Amino acid sequence: DKVLVGNKVSEGHSNYIMAYNMLTGIRVAVSRCSGIMKPLKEQDFKASKKLTFDITGNELTPSSRYDFKFKDYSPNVFRELRELFGLDPADYLVSLTAKYILSEVNSPGKSGSFFYYSRDYKFIIKTIHRSEHITLRRILKSYHQHVRNNPNTLVSQFYGLHRLKMPINFSGQKRKIYFIVMNNLFPANKEIHRTYDLKGSLWKRETLVKEEHKKHKAVLKDQNWLANNQHMLLGPKKKNKFLEQIEKDVAFLKAANIMDYSLLVGIHDLAIGNVTNQNFSVFYPKDSTNRDAINSTNPIPVDEVEVVGQQSIRPMNDSESVKLTSVQQQQQQFYFYNFECGFRGTNDRDIPTDEIYYLGIIDCLTNYSYIKRAETVIKGFYQNRKQISAVPAAEYGDRFLSFIKEKGFKK
Ligand code: ATP
Ligand code: CA
Ligand code: CA
Repeated sequence: DKVLVGNKVSEGHSNYIMAYNMLTGIRVAVSRCSGIMKPLKEQDFKASKKLTFDITGNELTPSSRYDFKFKDYSPNVFRELRELFGLDPADYLVSLTAKYILSEVNSPGKSGSFFYYSRDYKFIIKTIHRSEHITLRRILKSYHQHVRNNPNTLVSQFYGLHRLKMPINFSGQKRKIYFIVMNNLFPANKEIHRTYDLKGSLWKRETLVKEEHKKHKAVLKDQNWLANNQHMLLGPKKKNKFLEQIEKDVAFLKAANIMDYSLLVGIHDLAIGNVTNQNFSVFYPKDSTNRDAINSTNPIPVDEVEVVGQQSIRPMNDSESVKLTSVQQQQQQFYFYNFECGFRGTNDRDIPTDEIYYLGIIDCLTNYSYIKRAETVIKGFYQNRKQISAVPAAEYGDRFLSFIKEKGFKK
């Protein structure tokens, strides 16, 4: 299954090349950004570095299989952010680019973004819209400040912002792809039994899951949370810590004029454990007894790159992922990610329960733009203003917080 280089690049292959180029760009850019770390200056936030890759290579870039341009935004800032988040530079590169294996999830959201998981399931690459890229550049300074002041922030951890420019098939047109690297909130070795994406809005916030067996894979929403009478169980100590942090995080997002974000809640019940016996790795499907499952992962061994479909298949029992890497060991120090990379529930006497919560505020690069403003007006005629999702950032944040406070926990 060699990939054809040249004009005839089919759909599937074009994503393969995109993934290859993303990883090559990250590998070269990140390894270039080493040496002694100096205190950040104003210009570090505005800086960007361009790299040009081609078949022959040059003094700045090694030879690459494809022609493309790579832009690394604010490399020094992201380098410091990675350090603040406790990532080891070598581990970061190895997780992302060793063997060049990613698994692709075709847009779990409506936005049309592509999601890729690193082979060890720790990092997510998400393609983003240009407007989100502009937003991240705009808020980078205050985001950095917020992370410095709040080591336990629940807001998405951004590790890099990049742009690819590559030729599109046939026409000589270039296409630009913006993408970020961020933390995957979910662990590799714990099955998530319930997933909720909560915005604090009820308008169009219901996921209909008809078939029982699909239930635990579906991403449920606010309406489902209420209908299922779902709650988080946290004792007074942990609950206070959590609410304190989320209030600070929302204050930051409001000030940055951001909205449309969600609290992602993944629940693992230790009493249930890992029931779906995914006794194989996505990346090296050794277990040929589970043919269907393996086929559904659609592994295509194409040289070093393997872009695998299906997000549901995780390397549950992969010894590589069970073993604590130094990245995970470092992350142990973070309050909300310190028990099996998650936050263990406690009862009203602060005694641990069987539930582990995997929590974070995701999709936080949507600016309250003119488009949203128009949407507010149009929907506002028909719906109760409190229930629609497109409201100004301050209102959005307040509604988000009050949902969590009022519906997040048992009274
Ligand atoms: P939309 O704008 O339509 O909501 P999107 O393409 O911007 O979609 P997100 O909202 O960022 O996508 O994410 C969609 C889903 O992907 C989430 O509901 C969640 O299930 C999963 N997801 C996103 N980010 C993460 C993360 N950091 N860790 C784990 N899962 C994630
Ligand atoms: Ca979203
Ligand atoms: Ca989005």
